[in-house]
Amino acid sequence: MFSNDFIDDFKKFILKVDYPKHCTFCEGLDLSIKEPKHHPSYEITTACNLNCIYCYSKVAVRNKTAPKEGYYGDLNPKAVTISQYGEPLLVGVDKVAKIIERLKEIFGDVRIDLQTNGTIDFKDLDGLIDIAMVSLDVANPKSYRIVTGKNKFYDVLENVENAVNMDCILTVRSVFLPNFNDSELVNLSKILGDIGVDEHFIQPCSVYNECLNDLLSVGFDIERSNSLYDYLKVVYDCSEFVNVVIPGCIKVVLDEILKQLDDLSDLKFVRRNSIAREPPKIRREWRFAVDV
Ligand code: SF4
Repeated sequence: MFSNDFIDDFKKFILKVDYPKHCTFCEGLDLSIKEPKHHPSYEITTACNLNCIYCYSKVAVRNKTAPKEGYYGDLNPKAVTISQYGEPLLVGVDKVAKIIERLKEIFGDVRIDLQTNGTIDFKDLDGLIDIAMVSLDVANPKSYRIVTGKNKFYDVLENVENAVNMDCILTVRSVFLPNFNDSELVNLSKILGDIGVDEHFIQPCSVYNECLNDLLSVGFDIERSNSLYDYLKVVYDCSEFVNVVIPGCIKVVLDEILKQLDDLSDLKFVRRNSIAREPPKIRREWRFAVDV
């Protein structure tokens, strides 16, 4: 089915492809945990200045399952994500800085991972965050508007460029939307490689019922979104240009699958279920909100 050269290269790639630094310490890396929880997080706001077509956060807001402000997790965390829902920088970079300082006072030497849509300049957080994860799924302003509803493609690129010299890992996070951004992800990898980001983190799409029609309207292919091979092939294509990484919770399952496959071509028959089972909600306990 495939040429031998391609199979050799592809196999070498999927054996060595890594997960992002953000996944370190996540329960998702441990296959013995039946229902792994995501990292502890500090939720700041559920508001967002974009309207992404696949977004779990807006689904949660609509379903009234979005979290209130505050810290969710154990009281001795190794890593705290800011935040899983909404766009945290909307409350102001100064306020986010103060929240991080309070979290460091409370938890000591804890890793701080900022999760942002990248539309707001965050370089004033230099020295306070350990990982910056910026969401960007496409490589041109027209597609950006289709995915997010806004004309902020160049703002995000500029903020990514500004962040390259910050003292933190710089990760750009993209969602694979089969039949919509296959080739754009490769183009984006070229751009990110030129800019010098540390990681291009490509995730498969989780499809919520509430987002299905919007996704279908841009040509999103549900069948291909269930294909592990189609996802990995795009990731492989991007790896020519930048350090591409995949979710740790997928990497550990992939390693198990590879142990059982005699012929790599059989990867074509391995399916994932891209339809999300339930509306998203935070599964860690709310503990406190800091007063800043
Ligand atoms: S991608 Fe998976 S392993 Fe990585 S932080 Fe998220 S849930 Fe954990």
